Amino acid sequence: MKICLQNEEQRLAVESFRKFLDAEVRPVARRYRDQHIPKDRMREITQGIAEFGLPGVSVAAEHGGLGMSLVTEAMMFEELCAVSVDIGLCVMINKGMAVTLAELPESQAHLRERYLPDIMAGRTFGGFCISEPDVGSNVADIKATGRRDGDHFIIKGEKTWISNGHYSDFLITTVRTGEKALSHILVDREEHGYQTRNIDKIALNGQSTAQVFFDDVRVPARNIVWEEGAGLKNTMKLFEKARANVGMLSVGLMRAALEASIAYSKERHQFGKPIAAHQLVAAKIAEMATLTDAARLMCFRAFSMMDAGIRCDVQSSMAKWFATEMAVKVCRDAVQLHGGNGLTKEFDVERLAREAIVIPIPDGTTEIQKLMISRALTGIGAFV
Ligand SMILES: Cc1cc2nc3c(=O)[nH]c(=O)nc-3n(C[C@H](O)[C@H](O)[C@H](O)COP(=O)(O)OP(=O)(O)OC[C@H]3O[C@@H](n4cnc5c(N)ncnc54)[C@H](O)[C@@H]3O)c2cc1C
Repeated sequence: MKICLQNEEQRLAVESFRKFLDAEVRPVARRYRDQHIPKDRMREITQGIAEFGLPGVSVAAEHGGLGMSLVTEAMMFEELCAVSVDIGLCVMINKGMAVTLAELPESQAHLRERYLPDIMAGRTFGGFCISEPDVGSNVADIKATGRRDGDHFIIKGEKTWISNGHYSDFLITTVRTGEKALSHILVDREEHGYQTRNIDKIALNGQSTAQVFFDDVRVPARNIVWEEGAGLKNTMKLFEKARANVGMLSVGLMRAALEASIAYSKERHQFGKPIAAHQLVAAKIAEMATLTDAARLMCFRAFSMMDAGIRCDVQSSMAKWFATEMAVKVCRDAVQLHGGNGLTKEFDVERLAREAIVIPIPDGTTEIQKLMISRALTGIGAFV
């Protein structure tokens, strides 16, 4: 089932991209199923994808982007995630990095000029470091420090679960620069130096989720991103976009699970007819399609609000928890619909179900999204 394209610009952007993904990216995703895609190989893929505008579809033309809407970008992103969430997650982080760099104030134009063109071309990889071994849901508790030393900061601490971490050429890391102040600092792997180690997970090992170690890393103060001390406020702003994007990762998964299930239910015969002709199977297909569409529309609503310049943390949190949790259900239903075959590596739904379990965790768990939504509605926070 295809997404509803609203205009000619979207049709052109999505259809040509879909053809490219089928021809060039799907075979790579199959080849590296459950295996780490080496950096050089991932770079070839991201460079190919960059020719279609991602990660800079929504970046202003003056900064080298296509200047299209976030909704159009989300439509393209769905196509990618329906083919590979591993590659989708890698591109999603670079997308966040491209938008962040493009929107930096003029006082930080030097960071934009140095890092944006390569990210947009798919030549380099960025990452955002917030989480630490003892700091997950409670972002305000960050322990990594950035100690001022003249016109430099000395960064010390460990980050974990960092998407693109092992691939990264540079990172924007959140560190404590004062007792109550968090700041973002851009750290370059080659110029300033940090170490990374990949984390092996239940799924999504094709891309990199990594630990990052900063051991008294000396970084010029001019690498502060946004204002010093505004780290918490800006992290929340990053989450607004990131959460709707994580929702789209799940839409891609649901779409792949649904398409596999439709094909299988027409092919597999039991009791003398295709299983799609059994009403309980038909109902499952209808539910999977409806949940996928509902999740997609919730993400699109959040992106439309962002396109209109309307702050939408609540809508983005709603889209994130709903899409990610529904992906767990839809992908699990896809396994059930495939019967015993669904448990085997010969069919994709086994992998999709494992991948779906991962996605409710990054960028704030389902529980945290619900606490944020409720706090916005009642004015009463369950956490400070
Ligand atoms: C694939 C992947 C990619 C990631 N990418 C990045 C990245 O690029 N950068 C980055 O900085 N981080 C990243 N993360 C980390 C992610 O953001 C954290 O894992 C997430 O915020 C949860 O933190 P935690 O794992 O420490 O769980 P914890 O915070 O320890 O939570 C454990 C459990 O307790 C629940 N819980 C915690 N507090 C409350 C509360 N107040 N009320 C109710 N329940 C609560 C949680 O919902 C969860 O179920 C990634 C994680 C994954 C899995």
